Parts: sequence; structure tokens; C-alpha cells
Amino acid sequence: MAEKRDYYEVLGVSKDASADEIKKAYRKMAIKYHPDKNPGDKAAEEKFKEAAEAYDVLSDADKRAKYDQFGHNMGPQGFGGAGGGGFYSGGGMSMEDIFAHFGDIFGGRGGFGGGFGGFEGASGARPRQHVNKGTDLRITVKVTLKDIMNGVDKKLKIPRYVACEHCKGTGAKDGTAFHTCQRCHGTGYITHVQQTMFGAMQSESVCPECNGEGKVISEPCTYCNGTGVEKRDDVVSFHIPAGVEDGMTLTMRGQGNAPRHGGVNGDLLIVIQEEKNPELIRDGDDLIYNLMLDFPTAALGGSAEIPTVDGRARLKIAAGTQPGKVLRLRGKGLPKMNSSVKGDLLVNVMVYVPENVTDAEKAAIESLKEQPNIVPTESTAKRIFSRLRHIFNKENRGVE
Ligand SMILES: [Zn+2]
Ligand SMILES: [Zn+2]
Repeated sequence: MAEKRDYYEVLGVSKDASADEIKKAYRKMAIKYHPDKNPGDKAAEEKFKEAAEAYDVLSDADKRAKYDQFGHNMGPQGFGGAGGGGFYSGGGMSMEDIFAHFGDIFGGRGGFGGGFGGFEGASGARPRQHVNKGTDLRITVKVTLKDIMNGVDKKLKIPRYVACEHCKGTGAKDGTAFHTCQRCHGTGYITHVQQTMFGAMQSESVCPECNGEGKVISEPCTYCNGTGVEKRDDVVSFHIPAGVEDGMTLTMRGQGNAPRHGGVNGDLLIVIQEEKNPELIRDGDDLIYNLMLDFPTAALGGSAEIPTVDGRARLKIAAGTQPGKVLRLRGKGLPKMNSSVKGDLLVNVMVYVPENVTDAEKAAIESLKEQPNIVPTESTAKRIFSRLRHIFNKENRGVE
């Protein structure tokens, strides 16, 4: 083992340096040789450790006095060295020790000027105080197109955990038989420092003594066996707004499960499941209906019954209505959520061509072919195709 350097020499201060001077000197060294600034640099790491060790001794009046008197060689009770029984035997202080002991010198919670990079942000963003939160409850609610059109009020019986009345959710007898956790002093967290390939990383974990609650039950509540919660079927009322869509999740804050031993309730997540309508197809805010017209009605005009969200309606059919025509009923679709805008109902017209015919029907249809207006001319076909936007054309299918 190499000869230990003098601690004052390590920090670059005089033997009679004040506590403040020592602290400042150490801080300078720690920043200079910090593993985050010197990734993979073993020499820097050694300097960093050496400075930490020196600071540990010199910042403690008692240890400093002993060091001044005996130097490094203090035998089994000493600070380390050849004896091996000292405080810093073997490889000296570990990185864990350094960050655990001197985290405060870097300012805040172990980081200095963002020195810990993203790691510090990850743990630093969380509030220090542990908040117990109950789990979220997720339910699926089926809605019809009518519900989506108008919005709907629902009342559902939901089994969930609620705070035990006898112990006010604490789990402790009468809600008072608990004390502050000694291990984490009520914070619910224990600080750790880990060596990673990116350098030292400070993290916190939930205190195992109190499971992060910061308090320990002395005598459990007999009604809830110390859990602080009881399962109950509650009727929950809620409103589903108009315009919701399949798969959407509505969140009711605080309507989920109560946590064990008090805290904030979880949320109730209401997942929307849209029931398929047998006739109307939803396309965003629009509704589509495929209407099959018989040939005489398409040719001569008349009316057709169509379904709507609320019931049925009669639709006027003009003479000469072509298959492929889309009749747009403005504002008869679904409302946009949180808006007064409504979609349309699109009636997609198809004309039925008989698939099986009797001899009499066959004769009638054949006789139609003899009539002058039954078979389209080339110009008639062009005119009609030009009006039907979704018929194959050069733009959408490359038909020449
Ligand atoms: Zn209880
Ligand atoms: Zn604890």
C-alpha cells in the first residue's frame, strides 16, 4: 500500500486552517475530481476519494485533534494505514460512503450544479414527503350511439377499498396508536448511493421499516386488522359527455381505492366501450348508412326509410338517383366532444339488382332493354361518373 499523504497536504491547506477553509478546499477538490466530470478516470477517482477521506477527518474536531497528535498511524483505532484495522482500511472510503457522508457539501440532495445529470433530476423531481396513494380502479362502460349523441348519466355499483371508519384509515387502534418511524425519521425514504458505469448515482428507496409511510403502528385497529381499509360496494354516479369515443378514458379523481394506512385515494378510470350499432357506422363525428334502393324507386323517385340515432326517418328519393350517390344529412351525425359542432349522416345509396328472377320478371326486364331511356349512352355514363366523386378515376386509381 502506498504511503498515505498528509491530509492537510491533500486538501492544500495549512495545519491551522479554519473549519471553513477546510470545507472550501474540499469542495474545490470534490468538484475538480468529481466522477461526473472525469468519467472513467481512475486517477481522478483516487484523488476524489483521498480528498473525501482527508475532509472526513479534518472536518471533525475530535478526529482532527487525534490526527494532529498521532498522524496516520494510530493502531487499531486509527484512521487506517498499514494496520488494516482503521477506519479507512483497505481501499479507503468507498464512493457510497463519500456521497452518503458528504452529499450536503455538493448542495441540495447530493447534486452540485447538475453534476449528477439526469439521475439527480429523476429523484429530485419527486416531492420529499411520501404521499400514500390508493390504487386506481378501471371500469369499462358500454355506451350506445344514443348515449354518445346526447351524453348519459350512469350509476354503477363499484366494489372498492374505502378508509376504515374506526381508525380513520390509519390502521392504528382508534386512529392514534402509531409512532414516527425511527429508521427514516418519518420521511418514508432511505438514501442510497450506487456506483454505476456513469459514476456515482444517488437514489432513494422506500423505507423498509415503515414501507414508506413514515410511521409505524403500535397497536393495529381490530376492525380492519391494521390495514386501514375495508372493501365496500359503493354506488358511483357520473356523467358521460356527448361525443365520447371508443377507448377513451374518463378520470374521476379520488374515486378509486383508498390506500392502506391513510392518504390520497386513487382515481376511477372509466373506459368507454362503444356498442356497435347494427345499421349505422360511425366515422368520427359522421354516421354512415348504406341504403339499398330498389330499381323502380331509384328510377322513378319516392322515399326510403332510414335509421337515425334516435329512431327512424323518411328520406325523399329523387327520380334518377344513381347507385354510388351519397346523400348528406347535415348535422344529423354525432356531436364533437365539448363543442356544439355536429357531424353529418351520410346515406350511401346502392341500387339493388335482382339476383334470382322468375320467367315473368325475366321477360319484363328484357322488354325494358327495348326502351330508349333504359340503356345509357356514352355521354350519359360520362356525365354521371363525373358527379360521383368516389367512382374510380385517374386521380385515385390510375384508370386511363
Ligand atoms: Zn381500522
Ligand atoms: Zn421508515
